[in-house]
Amino acid sequence: MDFALTDEQALLQETARAFVAKHCSAEQAKVWDETDHFPVELWQQMADMDWFSLPYPLEAGGGGGSVTDLCILAEELGHASLDVAMAYVGTFIPGLVIFKYGTDEQRARFRSGLFDGDYRISVAISEPDAGSDAASLRCSAVDHGDHFVVNGQKAWCTGASLPGAWIALYVRTNPDAPKHRGISLLLVPNDTPGLEIRRTPTLARHLLGTNEVFLTDVVVPKENLVGEVDAGFSMLMSGLDVEKVVMAAAYTGVAQATMDDMLDYSKQRQQFGRPIGNFQALAHPMVDMQTEIDAARLLAYRAAWMLSTGKPCTREAAMAKLKCSEAYVSVARLGMQVMAGHGFSTESVMSFRWRESIVATISGGTSQIQRNAVAKSMGLITY
Ligand SMILES: Cc1cc2nc3c(=O)[nH]c(=O)nc-3n(C[C@H](O)[C@H](O)[C@H](O)COP(=O)(O)OP(=O)(O)OC[C@H]3O[C@@H](n4cnc5c(N)ncnc54)[C@H](O)[C@@H]3O)c2cc1C
Repeated sequence: MDFALTDEQALLQETARAFVAKHCSAEQAKVWDETDHFPVELWQQMADMDWFSLPYPLEAGGGGGSVTDLCILAEELGHASLDVAMAYVGTFIPGLVIFKYGTDEQRARFRSGLFDGDYRISVAISEPDAGSDAASLRCSAVDHGDHFVVNGQKAWCTGASLPGAWIALYVRTNPDAPKHRGISLLLVPNDTPGLEIRRTPTLARHLLGTNEVFLTDVVVPKENLVGEVDAGFSMLMSGLDVEKVVMAAAYTGVAQATMDDMLDYSKQRQQFGRPIGNFQALAHPMVDMQTEIDAARLLAYRAAWMLSTGKPCTREAAMAKLKCSEAYVSVARLGMQVMAGHGFSTESVMSFRWRESIVATISGGTSQIQRNAVAKSMGLITY
């Protein structure tokens, strides 16, 4: 068994680490978060590294990166913040769906926009009444020959209001079909008439922003339909394992960065004439936490290896998402306790980590939904 990275992967890791140190430190990510600032220049810098083309197949003009390569990158970007990692991952996941199911014309249209960093994609599945039960979405698209007319409401659309954003809009095209069928995927520029985008106030995720999207008689030409009509749910599911695994790697990156900050602090901060990390009451929980993070990381890279070698891994991807996201929440909570008053100050990066960590076990499928997926694979849940 070989746990080593290839030479190319080690170089990618080193390059990404230097990139984060230079362009998006945790302190910088915190400022972007606090000022609701989308750093368009960071996007361009990532494009200049050819990272936006890396996930796509070579035959489509992409970099042909493996899922393990993408995990390495996401893990390093996670050292900045979850939001920064999400800015990267959240664009290529729907992009891969377009490349897999779209027409040649759609691939050609999106290739330069995505690879050059000019396009962003916001995935719009959730609705006020459709969260974990995503297939119950109701936003309706009615066929009018050469176009659809869309009416409805979407919730939590990450990045929908960013400049150059397309909305990957999951809509119900057949209300009479069973709920997992009758869903289609439409691509809608975010400045289309009839769209109203309203930013949702949230604890964090302020770099990208999360939004409600209201759609009133929005006209979407048929050439913006991806794949077959009514086949949207399987497209949505097709990218899910990759998203879970790459985001799991991002969670381990940000969890490790949080751990490192806590460790540094515990070695420097003196009370009762000793570094506070010297007290077993703090040392043991920190050891347990580092063990958790290492275990989480191994789960992420096991699933990445399975995906990279074409093995089915729905169970392993769910385990990785579950463990890595929970590790981030736990390490941020412990970091707040170890840093005590200094952590509680909103000037501390730890307070930003703690605020930001909460979403890890919610977005991309809650921890309960991941446990349900594993329970199904164990024959425990049968519905
Ligand atoms: C910051 C942020 C960004 C997001 N970005 C996007 C985005 O870009 N696009 C998008 O479409 N959506 C996005 N979402 C939505 C996200 O996918 C949902 O929040 C998530 O799926 C949970 O849905 P919900 O919040 O409606 O909770 P609910 O589904 O209402 O769940 C509430 C509680 O019930 C539990 N629960 C529900 N069903 C079950 C079950 N069967 N078994 C056990 N427990 C269950 C849940 O685990 C949770 O604890 C985002 C959310 C957040 C917070």
